[in-house]
Amino acid sequence: MTTKIIIWMIAGLLLGSLINTFADDVAFIQDYFVHGLFHVVGVIFINLLKMLVVPLVTFSLIGGVCGIGDVKKLGRVGIKAFCLFLFTTALAILLALLVSVTIDPGKNFKLIPGAQTEFVAPEPPAITQVLIDLVPSNPVAAFAEGDMLQIIFFTILFAICLLMLGERGRTLIDGAEKMNDVMMQMVNVVMSIAPYGVFALMAKNFALQGIDLILPMIGYFGIVILVLICHVTVTLMALLKFLGRVNPIQFLKKMRTAQIFAFSTSSSGATIPITLRTVEKRMGVDNSTASFVVPLGATINMDGTAIMQSVATVFIANIYGIELSLTDYLTIIGMLVLASIGTAGVPGAGLIMLAMVLNQVGLPVEGIALIMGVDRFLDMMRTAANITGDAVVAVIVARSEGNISMETFNDPDAGAVNPIELPHVKQ
Ligand code: ASP
Repeated sequence: MTTKIIIWMIAGLLLGSLINTFADDVAFIQDYFVHGLFHVVGVIFINLLKMLVVPLVTFSLIGGVCGIGDVKKLGRVGIKAFCLFLFTTALAILLALLVSVTIDPGKNFKLIPGAQTEFVAPEPPAITQVLIDLVPSNPVAAFAEGDMLQIIFFTILFAICLLMLGERGRTLIDGAEKMNDVMMQMVNVVMSIAPYGVFALMAKNFALQGIDLILPMIGYFGIVILVLICHVTVTLMALLKFLGRVNPIQFLKKMRTAQIFAFSTSSSGATIPITLRTVEKRMGVDNSTASFVVPLGATINMDGTAIMQSVATVFIANIYGIELSLTDYLTIIGMLVLASIGTAGVPGAGLIMLAMVLNQVGLPVEGIALIMGVDRFLDMMRTAANITGDAVVAVIVARSEGNISMETFNDPDAGAVNPIELPHVKQ
């Protein structure tokens, strides 16, 4: 299945790039394919994924919390996951700042004539409001809006109270577990059509995003990609090896499908169903840990985004010839950790939060306009890094709690998606 998705992904990428180069002004291709077929299939595919997120997280979390059965242990898993999220993000930022300061991108940058230089910074939310917003005043609205932190808050409280009911809550817990099974089956069905969805998304993205936009920005672009790759393959894998005591190669192999989903949708949020499935079924992490760590990670843990924001900050400071002091760097690190927590797992959100960081350290927010042109591709790359970080933390926490089946983890075929066989419905 993964091979099939990769083949379709590369086909989409090639076709999109060809269209961008040779058929950029052919109205027929643009109207019927790029903005027609590819657009429709791509959006339907993303909607199919998003459709699964809220019910899957809800039922899985009820099963997970009731599976832990112990509020103290739940708190411990939560604290471990949160600390690891912060730690991996801080490592990502340090690495990105270190590489950027060494290479100094943008020192001799010449503004391309006619380049867009307008960017209006959105108002960042106050920290008090962020805290208040964790608790939904109306859970139905939270579920309808897909507000992940509010859903997690409500569902955990609901599940804890369900546990408190003892035997009387049993049927509901069993019901939630069965609903979770149905949702996981729906993930399998959606995954079986993934190759076509991924193809359409890639073809559309690359038809619209020409390679020529990237060339003048190659310094910035190259550093972000270099650091993303280093963070995923070196930093995160070292943590996995030493803290999680598992084989990183096996991990990376099993992560591939989820990374492709993240890459083609540019959304950690929409990829939650696939990340959750990968971590549970392919890597053997118990539902009690995965159901909690993965959705939380997709919402607050953004290593890849933090990397882009770090490099962008140094790049913009250089372009405008602004020297950053040590205090500036410390402020930047603090702000970037906060920004990556506050960034929503949706396409392009990282760029908006970058405005907040630039504002805080007194750098010109208009600088964002310069990097906007290449952000689409970087968004794809960093989203793949973001969800890899979530899965790494889920495995490490599960390992420390004895909540992972190493037999499943080490079995290369565990949980692989097979073509769906439709059942015969008896009349
Ligand atoms: N697209 C990213 C994600 O969903 C967020 C961002 O960096 O824009 O993880």
